[in-house]
Amino acid sequence: METAIAVGQAFVLERDHFQALLDALQGQGYTVLGPTVEAGAIVYRPLTRVEELPIGWRDRQGPGFYRLERREEPTLFGYVVGPSSWKKFLHPPTVTLWKARRTPDGGFQQVVESAAQVPRYAFLGVRPCELHAIRIQDRVFLEGPFVDPTYRERRSRIFTVVVNCVEPGDTCFCASMDAGPWAQAGFDLALTELWDPEDHRFLVHVGSPEGAAVLASVPLRPATEADRGRERARLDEAAQRMGRSLDVHGLKERLYAQYEAPEWEEVAQRCLTCTNCTLVCPTCFCTTVEDTTDLTGQWAERRRVWDSCFTLSFSYIHGGSVRSSPAARYRQWLTHKLATWQDQFDTLGCVGCGRCITWCPVGIDITQEAARIAAGAKTQEP
Ligand code: SF4
Ligand code: SF4
Repeated sequence: METAIAVGQAFVLERDHFQALLDALQGQGYTVLGPTVEAGAIVYRPLTRVEELPIGWRDRQGPGFYRLERREEPTLFGYVVGPSSWKKFLHPPTVTLWKARRTPDGGFQQVVESAAQVPRYAFLGVRPCELHAIRIQDRVFLEGPFVDPTYRERRSRIFTVVVNCVEPGDTCFCASMDAGPWAQAGFDLALTELWDPEDHRFLVHVGSPEGAAVLASVPLRPATEADRGRERARLDEAAQRMGRSLDVHGLKERLYAQYEAPEWEEVAQRCLTCTNCTLVCPTCFCTTVEDTTDLTGQWAERRRVWDSCFTLSFSYIHGGSVRSSPAARYRQWLTHKLATWQDQFDTLGCVGCGRCITWCPVGIDITQEAARIAAGAKTQEP
């Protein structure tokens, strides 16, 4: 008997049938991007077979620390997040804006090359915090006065398969940012992996008609109350086990009151201004523009590339850089994430994924620094 599938329903997908989900996505014309192990880390890349997923791997994370190690359970999504996020597929690190060639009369003619068609991507294994980060970038690139055509084109074609988090990492704090550990909306499908020695299955939530269409060819059975209860228990437990937390109540005002705090200089003495935190962050979006020519001088090209507020050149205007000291640059980054972002985009700029803590070479922790610096304001309140 065929199972009717509608938005809002939940089903059970047995682990042994997971390949059918991959096949269904590919059958609908999607290029599946998902997690795999590469160079000692979890990275997202095209995959076609379930065996390419990080089966039986977990990650250990801490400030300035990341290691993959084997685990006994053959889970498919038993890690947290790796250094790369989905940002690079929606807001690519390099975008060619235009090319031009020299004409016989010594001038330049702009050459418009038809951009290669971007595949219809299915993002498999999007963590709830990462889905939240995509929603934040939507506000930046799509919902302000200026719409970014590159982002719009890519964003309009993706299919999202969320995998809720049942095992948060030591640097995670999505629960305090209201960005996890489970996704409530904005996905096509959301999975929760449930493993025990006798039973390995996924609860599948249908979030869109496209999600329902993909499931039409996948062997499923309707989820029971017992299935939902088991899922709820695992997710509640995950929310309780977050490695970190951040009190965001009144944080904007508390940080605004601390522009001149000596702690900015203190953290800057440790900060290498290496830019790692901004490059791994799924919400950071700053870019610069580079012009290049070939050695013959016949071709010129303008590219948009990722940049970072931690570089001296990022705030360079005529006469010098506005933020010349590491303290000024760290203050810019942290207050943008947790304060001015709210004025600009009506949302926080952080989802609590913990990447900036893990991948900071000196282990600077945004939750500790924000709490420490904002606490000064707290004690000065009447
Ligand atoms: S600021 Fe850090 S914890 Fe927050 S979203 Fe960016 S990388 Fe993740
Ligand atoms: S806070 Fe850490 S990751 Fe960010 S620029 Fe400074 S040293 Fe690099």
